[in-house]
Amino acid sequence: MVSLKDIQTFFRGRLTIHEPLAPYTSMKVGGPADYYLEPADKDDVVGIVRYLEENKFPFMMVGRGSNLIISDEGYRGAAINLEEGISRVTLEEGLIVAEGGARLTKLVDFCVQSSLSGLEWAAGIPGTVGGAVVMNAGAHGGEIKDSLVDVEVYRGGSVLRIEKEKADLSYRRSGFTADIVLSARFNLQPGNRDEIMKRRSELIAKRNATQPLNLPNSGSMFKNPPGTFAARLIEQAGLKGKRVGNVQISEKHANFMVNLGNARAEDILRLIELVRRTVHQNTGIQLDLEVKLIGFPQNSVAHAS
Ligand SMILES: Cc1cc2nc3c(=O)[nH]c(=O)nc-3n(C[C@H](O)[C@H](O)[C@H](O)COP(=O)(O)OP(=O)(O)OC[C@H]3O[C@@H](n4cnc5c(N)ncnc54)[C@H](O)[C@@H]3O)c2cc1C
Repeated sequence: MVSLKDIQTFFRGRLTIHEPLAPYTSMKVGGPADYYLEPADKDDVVGIVRYLEENKFPFMMVGRGSNLIISDEGYRGAAINLEEGISRVTLEEGLIVAEGGARLTKLVDFCVQSSLSGLEWAAGIPGTVGGAVVMNAGAHGGEIKDSLVDVEVYRGGSVLRIEKEKADLSYRRSGFTADIVLSARFNLQPGNRDEIMKRRSELIAKRNATQPLNLPNSGSMFKNPPGTFAARLIEQAGLKGKRVGNVQISEKHANFMVNLGNARAEDILRLIELVRRTVHQNTGIQLDLEVKLIGFPQNSVAHAS
């Protein structure tokens, strides 16, 4: 068993216990983690994770929590966030090096300042580099894998550099789910700064026009099935605006669920199940979750995706 006293002997970052996770998610839902850790730097991450692994104590990474639904009971284990200590973005030997806790907004801004093109599609995605690499995030025809060169990870006790070709990246999937993404390198093309800025502004405006950004949400709840859009199937099933407790399928974008205020994770799960059941009955298509569920029983229906 791990102990707070033990951790305090070597951990240099911020550490709290019974920390509510809702504020660390974009949906603003979820109970506490037993431990919440913000390591000071990469050595601190490696130190704490080795300690947790040696003591067989569960841990999870939390980026901006923009793709996470955390249960009302929270997470029995340690939640680790890299935003404070591991979030630099630099240009080294012609490649952009972005640390795991850096926000995508910061990465895109850095690209604009450096007149480098290729990551404009990420403008407005509210995640971190770590979360985006693990999810192989994408939008508007682009995805992380397009310009990724390699990823520095903590895996099985060591820090390794994994080339993109060995990373098993596909639509909203990667081979990094059991790793800790410490940094990623990107190869971008020289571009015209004004054009890059213009493209960034256009894409942000498009998000504002089509997504319910005035209310807490987790982005797209479901992956798009091959050849169609989850939002279209949900809308055709007549579920736009459907509400369970204080969770609602957005009127603006049917693949988004919004928190109308003090929503419960349990209600999100019930709405997820309703959507999957109804769309399956109507079309025979089984919608797979894009969001990650944390702290729910393994046999809950939504986990079956
Ligand atoms: C309004 C809105 C719009 C969105 N639009 C898009 C979109 O257009 N395209 C898209 O792909 N996604 C979109 N998303 C979803 C989400 O922003 C992305 O998936 C994002 O990349 C997740 O990053 P995060 O830091 O928030 O990760 P989190 O949600 O915190 O975590 C996601 C997963 O990554 C893991 N993780 C996080 N950091 C690390 C790390 N350093 N090392 C290892 N594992 C880690 C977590 O454990 C978890 O499994 C949107 C979300 C919202 C709320």
